[in-house]
Amino acid sequence: MTNALSIRGVFKHFGDLRALRDVSISVPRGSFFGLLGPNGAGKSTLINIMSGLMRADAGTVAVMGHDVVSAYRQARHALGVVPQELVYDPFFTVREMLRLQSGYFGHGPENHAWIDELIETLSLTDKADTNLHDLSGGMKRRVLIAQALVHKPEVVVLDEPTAGVDVELRQALWQFTRRLHADGRTILLTTHYLEEAEALCEEIAILNHGQVVAQESKQALLARYPYRSLRLTLAKGDAPLPESLRALVVEQQENCLCLRLHKTRDPIVKVLQTLHAAGIEVTDLRTEEAGLEEVFLDLTGAPPATGILA
Ligand code: ADP
Ligand code: MG
Repeated sequence: MTNALSIRGVFKHFGDLRALRDVSISVPRGSFFGLLGPNGAGKSTLINIMSGLMRADAGTVAVMGHDVVSAYRQARHALGVVPQELVYDPFFTVREMLRLQSGYFGHGPENHAWIDELIETLSLTDKADTNLHDLSGGMKRRVLIAQALVHKPEVVVLDEPTAGVDVELRQALWQFTRRLHADGRTILLTTHYLEEAEALCEEIAILNHGQVVAQESKQALLARYPYRSLRLTLAKGDAPLPESLRALVVEQQENCLCLRLHKTRDPIVKVLQTLHAAGIEVTDLRTEEAGLEEVFLDLTGAPPATGILA
């Protein structure tokens, strides 16, 4: 079966800047795929190449088997892109703009029912006859999503859809994206909120400085990271720790001690024995498996965005 997206050996330079360096990514049909990477990694550049806004210097990209250069029309029809930047034409209302967009893709009035459904699903009904210029940022983002879906693409690409949106809209976007996926569409999501990728994506590729540094299922990626955390509550917080444990400390506050343990090299029993031998009493303990955040940091060295609820 052809992949939904097949990216092979893509290079892109901007002057001296090597934005994409030999990028190859396969996005299976029907998958919920996360394209992750710190700011400037090249995610939007890759998406611009997929949608034909930019040309790669070398390499090929195909959408549902259609090459984005030699079979531009078919490739573009198979793809719906929600761009990172809010771009819109201020002179049209929401409904006018969606009908116009639908027309660009060769649809006529037979598509109006689908447009109305999009308007309703994205809670734009009240704003359907409002000029785009007069909408809030969050509402504009909803319109961009409707615009990306107007021609019923099989592959939906969302470039940082939740950057800077409020909690309510974020939840709505997640729910809507999950529904699109359940309906059989392939979803490619870029985000630097790792909690989001962890919650939604099955397959993940990580870009760093224009290169793919990981491409695996989420489970495999998480399993690859060899550490876990051990959180201990100590009977007394002021006892000096044995030398051998000090290098493992991630956090120490009053009675709480958090250690980073290698899954095979640092057995928990050994930690407990060492503490016991030093006369330090443990009253509670809990282990935590690594999340995507730890894996991401390990692979890119970049601090991921935090405070998604802020
Ligand atoms: P991301 O989406 O992962 O944050 P981008 O693809 O936007 O990254 O950018 C990758 C790199 O390419 C960045 O260093 C960015 O400044 C540069 N870049 C992107 N678009 C252009 C452009 N049109 N001209 C020059 N440099 C660009
Ligand atoms: Mg970007």
